[in-house]
Formats: sequence, structure tokens, C-alpha cells
Amino acid sequence: MKKRLVAVLAVCLFSIMAVCAAFADAPELPDDNFERLILSVTVGGKSAALSGAEYSVTVDDGSENAAVSVGCAAGATCTVKDEGGNTVTEVAPLCKGARYVIEAKKGSFRDSKNLVVYRQHDFYKAEVTPATCDKPAVYQNVCRYCGTPQGDAFEEGAPDESLHRWGNYVYNNDATSERDGTETRRCEVCGKEDTRVKEGTKLGSEQKPDPGQQETPEPGEQTPDPGEQTPDPGEQQTPEEQPAPEPIEFPDVAEGKWYKEYVDYVSANGLMNGNADGSFNPDGRLTRAEFVQILANLAGVDTTDRNVATEFADVSAGKWFTPAVKWAVDNKIVNGISPTEFKPNANIERQQICTMVVRYATDFARAELPKTADKITFADEASIGNYAKDAVAICQQAEIVNGMGDNKFEPKKEAERSQAAKIITVFHKIINAG
Ligand SMILES: [Zn+2]
Ligand SMILES: [Zn+2]
Repeated sequence: MKKRLVAVLAVCLFSIMAVCAAFADAPELPDDNFERLILSVTVGGKSAALSGAEYSVTVDDGSENAAVSVGCAAGATCTVKDEGGNTVTEVAPLCKGARYVIEAKKGSFRDSKNLVVYRQHDFYKAEVTPATCDKPAVYQNVCRYCGTPQGDAFEEGAPDESLHRWGNYVYNNDATSERDGTETRRCEVCGKEDTRVKEGTKLGSEQKPDPGQQETPEPGEQTPDPGEQTPDPGEQQTPEEQPAPEPIEFPDVAEGKWYKEYVDYVSANGLMNGNADGSFNPDGRLTRAEFVQILANLAGVDTTDRNVATEFADVSAGKWFTPAVKWAVDNKIVNGISPTEFKPNANIERQQICTMVVRYATDFARAELPKTADKITFADEASIGNYAKDAVAICQQAEIVNGMGDNKFEPKKEAERSQAAKIITVFHKIINAG
């Protein structure tokens, strides 16, 4: 340019105005002007800007390729080449800039300019980590062309609950005589617990609660310690020497009911407790395991260590009733239904209660049960199991149990909690007196 300006100035200086006017109409591109061989560059319809030796343009129509055209000086040849030296008519924009070279020639003259074609980032929400059972998915906005991130990764959406890997439901031993028990399963991945009502754990069904743990269940605690609610055995067995323990007031144990005094007694002495909802459920039933636990409470046995085993397949280590059953077996208070089966969740029969309390008295407490009543021959004597005949007679004569009307004993009838409260009250007083 400088040469040309100098030339123009020189001509103007030494020429008249007409000469200057004539120069203005001269051909635009002298053969010796390298600079003007490339007049313009257009990419995807957009003009590239020239800076120094480089044209640059940003296209953002989203297409992979864009047509490139060079405004080439008359008589000149302009070509666009990629980095491999291949002539192209389309360029492929890159976020970081795709580099090309524009070559122009006219006769013996050559010129070249770089061409850099940018495309704008196009960010989209890419999933970095998918949702897990306890965490939402993590996303990151990234450029779909070059992967450049925009901003920080972020959580979005909700955890995918369908991904929990649930273990088996485990019964919580929390049924009461008025409510179904619950069972809980746990996710192996996140530890979440899922608790539902366990069907068939209501009163009279197979699964029954631990009488010792009904009164103060701890939310979330699956293995409450029945022993914690058992008062010190010394207090239980010698109530006469201690300040009178306070009975628990149960809304379903009204004043005037025949069993009120017995419920008061067993609750005050920590022998039987109520349900989590504060009721006693006097008409409810007891399971064999519950009754054994009551006897263990009566004996002041520490049943907190569940890591004990028995010979019964259905009384395995870890169950709430296993320590009490083991204690009862060790002390010859109970036998199984068979050598391998105890049926802890079966409701206890009246004749079974008699056998257990008599064995408790003779084999554990070494107490003789008094014969305060005459021997009764029940009308249904024949239906009493041979194993229980003596025990029923002893219980009847000690007035621990009574007949059920019509001179029947009803040995297989399931004991009601109110009846159990009376039996345990009478028995507890006999044992303590002895
Ligand atoms: Zn990009
Ligand atoms: Zn989970």
C-alpha cells in the first residue's frame, strides 16, 4: 500500500487535476498488487473478517459443513485448502476453530490467507451419572460438538426408587394383640428400610409379640430388649418388702371387671405388659413364646442375650423369644412339640399353661403347689392330653386354673390374656409365698 500511495501522491503532485481524475478510473487491480487478489471470504453466507493474515468467521447454523466462497480478483484463481492440502468447497466449523488456507494466484503473483471457521458451542444437558436408588442423576451442560462443559455439574430429578436392591423382609416381632406386626426389608445399596404390615400377625395368628417388649417399643429398633422392661427380679418377687409397685392403667381394663386386679398385679410386677397403643387386650390370646417369656420375667431371668441356640429349628438364635425358651428348656419347664419343633408362635393352650407352671414350680422354683381345692374330675377329662393330666390336676387343686363351666376344663382352648393374668398372679403369689 505504501508504495502505491507514494506513487499516487507523486503522480498527483506532478500532474494536473485531470490526470488525478484519470487515475481514479484506472483498473482496480494492478498486476503487482498481491494484497487484493482475495477480495472477500464468505462462509455459510456469512462474511469472514480479515485481521492481519487471517480471515475468521463464526457460523452457528448447526450444520456440519458450510459452503465457502472467496471473492477473487478478476483474472485471479482462489482456492481453499484444508490442513491436508486438499482443495475444499465446504468447511467444517469447529468450536476451537477449523483452520484452512486460501491460496490466490494471478500470473506469477501469489497470495495466501489463513481462514479460521468457528462454530458456537451448543450446550446440552448430558447425564454424568445416572440416578441411583438414593441419589438423583447428575447432569452437566456440555457442548455437543466439542464436549466443553458449561458451569458446574448439578443434580436433577429424584432418586430412582426402582433400583433399590431389597433383601428379604424380616419380621420385627412387634405385633400386639390388637395390631398386625410389621416386617422390614433393607436395601443392600443405600441401607434404606421399608416396613410394611406383616399379614397374619394379628392376635390368634402364628406370629405373636413379645409381651416384654410391647410396652415401650422403640421406633426403628428392631431388636428391643425385653429384659430392659423387666423390673429387677428382687422387686418382682418380694413385692411385700418394697413400696407397692404401680399398676399400669389400661383403658380396656375397666374397674369392676373380674380380671382388673390380676391385670393390675401382673403389670405392676412387670410380668405382663400392655400393647404399644396402651391397651392390655384382655380378650387377646398368648403364644407359647409369650407365655415362656412371662415365666422368664417371673423368674427374673436376663433374656437380653439373644445369641443363644436351642435344639428347636423354629427357635433359632437371634429371635426375641429364644433366650427365654432356652432358659425354659434348660430348666425343664418346656418341651417342644417335637424334638425339633417348639411352635413358638402357636397360641398356648390351657393345658400347656398348666404343664409349664407345674414344671416351673417343681423343676425350677422347687416349690410345692398347695392343694387348696378338692380334686375335680372334669366332664371333658378324656380330652386332656396324657402329658398334661397330672399338671392340670395340680393346677386345679392349687386354684391356679378353674373349670370353664359345665364342669369342663377345655384343655385345648387357647388362654385369653385376662385368664393368663389371673393364672400368673395366683402362681406368682404362691411361688413368692413358698
Ligand atoms: Zn463446543
Ligand atoms: Zn437403595
